[in-house]
Amino acid sequence: MKKTACLIIGSGPAGYTAAIYASRANLKPIMIEGLQPGGQLTTTTDVENFPGYPNGIMGPEMMEDLKNQAKRFGTEIISGFVTSVDFSKNKGELHKITVDEEKIFESKTVIISTGASAKYLGLDSEKKFMGFGVSACAVCDGFFYKGEDVVVVGGGDSAAEESIYLSKLCNKVYLLVRKDSMRASKIMQERVLKTPNIEVLFNHETIEILGDQNVNKVNVFNNITKENKLLNATGFFVAIGHKPNTDIFKGKIKMNSAGYIITHADSSLTDVNGVFASGDVQDSVYRQAVTAAGSGCMAALDAERYLSEFE
Ligand code: NDP
Repeated sequence: MKKTACLIIGSGPAGYTAAIYASRANLKPIMIEGLQPGGQLTTTTDVENFPGYPNGIMGPEMMEDLKNQAKRFGTEIISGFVTSVDFSKNKGELHKITVDEEKIFESKTVIISTGASAKYLGLDSEKKFMGFGVSACAVCDGFFYKGEDVVVVGGGDSAAEESIYLSKLCNKVYLLVRKDSMRASKIMQERVLKTPNIEVLFNHETIEILGDQNVNKVNVFNNITKENKLLNATGFFVAIGHKPNTDIFKGKIKMNSAGYIITHADSSLTDVNGVFASGDVQDSVYRQAVTAAGSGCMAALDAERYLSEFE
């Protein structure tokens, strides 16, 4: 068993920023990296919108920089996956966290930054071209397809928003909706339908994403007529929703119906004393590396303030 003042779960931009702040405040944080060390950014290529990198940086490299920065101030990084949590109900008491079903950690404060995972279609070709034409974030990657033709998949608000965003950068956007109608709000649907360079293909599904090194075509089929066609496109954006990584916290902390942890307004406080949440695990709206990093900073400051009550 190991005891600490501050335990951070998750190693994306939120977790590392929390670690940098907590270690500089001498909280000697321990970070449990999770199943995907570095988080979602390790699956992207160039990151051009994170402040401080004028020439852009590769996602995995940026996460390595954040890791080194957290280590420099003494964060202990442990590779492993949190399998269960036992949050104390009483203020100031220790929370118990089990890693890989056997290692027990006790900590007065816990920062949850386990992120969210984009949902994908599950095609082999989608995996093959990940970062080489396939993306789940138009704001992150849309710029690379300036003036080109792209495909967006999905019929909800995310797909509508991503299509509209991309329509301002790209020559043409094909929006593939698997049903004969969109699930997006009426206002978003109207915006999509009146954007001249968005072509909505209702009842269309993806068969395969094609290309050499990068995507150059998408094979789609109409699930009513059963006809298929090839769309010329260099980008393939999947916008079929995200899933917050909160399964292990179910019943232990307050979440909304979609599983996102609920934090108090303008803070990282949750409904459990000493447990804070930062990054995409509590944010279904902005979902950017920089907003996650900002909320990681908030969580570390909130944890520090909480601990100072017991000194
Ligand atoms: P949603 O769950 O609302 O929509 C997912 C969409 O993806 C649905 O149209 C669904 O189709 C489609 N889909 C799911 N699986 C597949 C698949 N395998 N192949 C093809 N299509 C598929 O997710 P969103 O991310 O769009 O939205 C999540 C929440 O966030 C919503 O509450 C939304 O309102 C909100 N949001 C709000 C925004 C805003 O207000 N600006 C922006 C973005 C999101 P089907 O309908 O057939 O099931």
